[in-house]
This record gives sequence, structure tokens and C-alpha cells, in this order.
Amino acid sequence: MTAETNKLFYEGLIENNPDKLLKSPKSDLHNHSTKGCRRVKRAVDVLGLDEVHHGNNAAKSDDVMRFLADSKIKLNMCPSSNVKLGYTDSYKDHPIRILYENGVKVTINTDDLLIFDSSIENEYLLLYQAGTLSAEQLDDIRRSGLGD
Ligand SMILES: [Zn+2]
Repeated sequence: MTAETNKLFYEGLIENNPDKLLKSPKSDLHNHSTKGCRRVKRAVDVLGLDEVHHGNNAAKSDDVMRFLADSKIKLNMCPSSNVKLGYTDSYKDHPIRILYENGVKVTINTDDLLIFDSSIENEYLLLYQAGTLSAEQLDDIRRSGLGD
């Protein structure tokens, strides 16, 4: 999907079909949206999500981050995808640091392997080398992602 059709898809889903959506015990949303931190909260609220893939814009709002942290909603971050697609200027500026420091549960992932040609260890290394997060913080995220 292009960013525009992606946006229309989610908005249509949220606006027109919330009562028709089957809410599984675990549900998630792949959200590459470039704006609207409130949209992350709204999607979680309306769709009853447990996880959001990306959802980087949540870092723009203390309220949304508090909501995600309190609700234990996990954001699955894909740093190299975000840099390559221009959603963040650099690894150093990636919003994962702000989200982590505000208590939002995050994981570190690759996006589409065929497109982004990365690995999980490479994603961790990129964030470490850029100074985005310390080795201790990255290890905490790793352990948390494993369910520790
Ligand atoms: Zn993605």
C-alpha cells in the first residue's frame, strides 16, 4: 500500500467498521503514518490493539506515551526502515529513545527483510553505534521483548 492508501484504509476501518472488527486476544496494526500521534491512540482505543508496528509518532505526545505505557501497549520499532523511508532523520534521532525513556514497551525489529536487507542484530547495532540507546538499555529492551 502507498502511504495514502494506507491512511485511507486505517481511517476507513476506524470510522466505519469498529463494531464489525473481530477482536482477537492479540491484535496489532502496521502503522507507517508520518503524522498524527493521536491516531496511534485512537487506533489502539477503537481496535482494541495490543501492539502497534511502528507508531513512532506516539513520541510526540506525553499523553499518548503515558496512555501506551499505562495500557502496556507494545510498539514494535524498525529503525533502519524508518531511516530509509525518511520517517526519522537519523538513528541518533530515532524516537525509540524517547518512547523507552517514557516507559513505553518497545521491541526492535527488521521491517520487510526483502526490502530493507537487515537483521535483528544489525538493528540493535545501528542504535548502539549511533548512541541512541546504551548497551544496558538495549539489553533491557531485548529481555523485555523475550517476555522477561
Ligand atoms: Zn513497516
